[in-house]
Amino acid sequence: MRIANRIGHITGGGSDGWEIYYRTREMQARGERVLTLTIGEHDIRTDPAILDAMHASARAGNTGYAFGPGNRNLREAIAARTEARTGVPTSWQNVVVTPGGQAALFATHMALLDAGDIGLHCDPFYATYPGTIRTAGAIARRIPTTSDQAFLPQEEAILAAAEGARTLLVNTPNNPTGVVYDRATLEGIARAATQAGLWLISDEVYDTQLWSGEHLSPRALPGMADRTVVVGSLSKSHAMTGSRLGWIVAPLEVAEAVTTLATNTTYGVPAFIQDAALFALGRGEAFEREIAEPFRRRREIALRVLAGSNAIRTIPSSGAMYLMLDIRATGLSGDAFANRLLDEEKIAVMPGESFGEASAGHLRVALTIADDQFEEALTRLAAFAERQLP
Ligand code: PMP
Repeated sequence: MRIANRIGHITGGGSDGWEIYYRTREMQARGERVLTLTIGEHDIRTDPAILDAMHASARAGNTGYAFGPGNRNLREAIAARTEARTGVPTSWQNVVVTPGGQAALFATHMALLDAGDIGLHCDPFYATYPGTIRTAGAIARRIPTTSDQAFLPQEEAILAAAEGARTLLVNTPNNPTGVVYDRATLEGIARAATQAGLWLISDEVYDTQLWSGEHLSPRALPGMADRTVVVGSLSKSHAMTGSRLGWIVAPLEVAEAVTTLATNTTYGVPAFIQDAALFALGRGEAFEREIAEPFRRRREIALRVLAGSNAIRTIPSSGAMYLMLDIRATGLSGDAFANRLLDEEKIAVMPGESFGEASAGHLRVALTIADDQFEEALTRLAAFAERQLP
């Protein structure tokens, strides 16, 4: 009797990079006050009006099995939202509703990669990316980026890694960096994907958290709709992380493949959650702006506190609920800095090393605690960094 090798392969044998997070939980369980800037989750709960819609739907009897790819009315609403924002013609049949963006990422890789195929993702990366590709039985290969180029994936670097690969996963606005890909970067990605014959998987779960300019989806670039799968979610845009409501927008053949997978794995998303999602989307962009606003404010606080620091360089970001700080001037690794900051200052941040090799010597700060506590944490973090300067 043994556990399938598949599971051991998910982490690739290394650590999962969440030690700081687990240590923080232990300290908090002992009653210690830790200012926690680790996890990408709002400091508010789902809006009661959305919960009322969920409850009303359940009470109306929508508690049976839901249909695999999602309710038609919700798929239509997601298609209309996508078309309005990108200008790309999108039918409800291009949309499949999934239990969260993570399930959408998994289903997409399952649909596009066979066992032993190579899936590309950028370094640094959202923590689950390599594991998701490996869970699909494929091999995860990294595209290196550099801090000096704001961790933007370069066309040449993609092409250099593309030999034998079938998919390319990108994410804008980006977790962990907060960087938003500009048009030139997206055009480079599109050219490289086309030249190398890759499916492009575009994770856009932070598309409503943008501090300047507009969200650009690579699916909207000429010729890209046929080779691009967009992953979306209500987790970040509507503070609905626990509702597990995500989707893909994809060419029909991919949508059909993901539906077949859903029929044999998840059975789709509960109908009362889908009705709550339809209600949430119906509240429009003003509600999305309201949910994003605290992150905009806290980013401003961080930039003000860190301006003029000799120890910390802020990676130029303009989206998502994170900031990436370059602390290489202190001579400490991200791991060492984060562990000492937790022990000595009781402030928890994620070491850049948790997100890949490219972000070694950096920290990811989540903009996810109340403004006054956030300002206190950043002020003390900056002072701590200054004291480490050689
Ligand atoms: N993609 C990125 C980049 C994320 O940061 C997250 C969650 N932190 C997800 C996907 C998955 O989100 P969910 O499954 O809650 O939609």
